[in-house]
Amino acid sequence: MTDIWSVDEHLDDILRAVRPLDHLELQLFDAQGCVLAEDVSVPVAMPPFDNSSMDGYAVRTADVEGSSEEFPAALTVVGDIAAGSGSLPAVGPGEAARIMTGAPLPPGAEAVVPVEWTDGGTGGGPAESMTAHSTAPGGTEVRVHRPAVAGAHIRTRGSDIPAGTVALTAGTLLGAPQIGLLAAVGRATVLVRPRPRVVVVSTGSELAEPGTKLGPGQIYDSNGYTLTAAAREAGAVAFRVSAVADDAATLRAILEDQLIRADLLITSGGVSVGAYDVVKEALSDIDDLPGGVEFRRLAMQPGKPQGFGLIGPDRIPLLALPGNPVSSYVSFEMFARPALRAMAGHAELHRPRVRARLVADTPLTSPPGKRQFLRGSHRNGTVRPVGGASSHLIAALAQADSLIVVPEEVTEVEPGTELEVVLLHHAR
Ligand code: AMP
Ligand code: MG
Repeated sequence: MTDIWSVDEHLDDILRAVRPLDHLELQLFDAQGCVLAEDVSVPVAMPPFDNSSMDGYAVRTADVEGSSEEFPAALTVVGDIAAGSGSLPAVGPGEAARIMTGAPLPPGAEAVVPVEWTDGGTGGGPAESMTAHSTAPGGTEVRVHRPAVAGAHIRTRGSDIPAGTVALTAGTLLGAPQIGLLAAVGRATVLVRPRPRVVVVSTGSELAEPGTKLGPGQIYDSNGYTLTAAAREAGAVAFRVSAVADDAATLRAILEDQLIRADLLITSGGVSVGAYDVVKEALSDIDDLPGGVEFRRLAMQPGKPQGFGLIGPDRIPLLALPGNPVSSYVSFEMFARPALRAMAGHAELHRPRVRARLVADTPLTSPPGKRQFLRGSHRNGTVRPVGGASSHLIAALAQADSLIVVPEEVTEVEPGTELEVVLLHHAR
């Protein structure tokens, strides 16, 4: 039938319609988890000056040449340089300056000898830790037991990154080390693709709010929570709207209200062919709401009925997902998550997929012509189905860590067969 869409056709249609969000200048912590939208170059060399990588003594190499435990070099300590010191004593022949890790190398010095290679400045006694040592070494002597080559224990200016170099390229995901690098090069703000804002609207007159008492015929709105949480896990800023009863006018009013704060709208329920398919009804005839949503049947199980379109004056993408909890979650994984990642500027839109050997007591059966996504537990190259194929099995979904993909043309899978598995716990 021509009006049946494949999973890939529906996904391609969505990905063709969504765009990376306009970039925004954000404070570093607000940019965490976002994709960089500029090449960040380094204004000053890092480190910005030659500095010591050890607590020790800054020396001239000729002065310590040939020194040993037996014949230490005795040097006059001319100063004490802490990290952050602005004024530096010059180190002349026969002289040394006590220096701390990260402190600038004083003029004249060519190497740093670690305090462990000296007597600690006590004038012949055993080596001491720098902190235990007196803070007034001026005029005192240090004995150095080992020679040092030029540059020893010195972190040279620009050895991390030279000035003018691009430190992070556009497209980089900003995790903790990248945020730290931005701070290290002096940036307080950075240009990124912002997190997409998602509004999740559950529909169904049977839906009650968790925390309240269920009335006859009611169930709790779980999709609103699953989808909002899934959107947050996908890096979005997600808002959950309280479940909307099956009334097209009410739903339409709520969607119109929500357009203002959404980069993507997600509804659940009301998209099949029942008498109360409110999302279809609300969005099929939208003269007063520009744009259009198309409702389709997909060659997919679960998740056959789907809607997608762009609505409102700003043509905000809307994904209308089916109501069954497993269907809506699998649909989110297959369609909404890649769309959100595209909006956020990621190059890789999909979860990792691996091949795994089926472990099961009996063969799996799958409907012909449909791509089936079964919940699975993946371990050491094998995958075991968790729960059955029914799309109301929320408890089994919560035990699964993967989706087992049974291709359209396959109707039976023997245990031991290799199948494709989508790994749900991998953030990418
Ligand atoms: P629908 O697509 O609206 O006909 O819903 C299909 C099935 O999913 C019905 O059993 C609904 O009660 C159930 N369902 C729909 N929305 C939700 C929701 N937000 N939370 C939990 N179950 C839902
Ligand atoms: Mg419903």
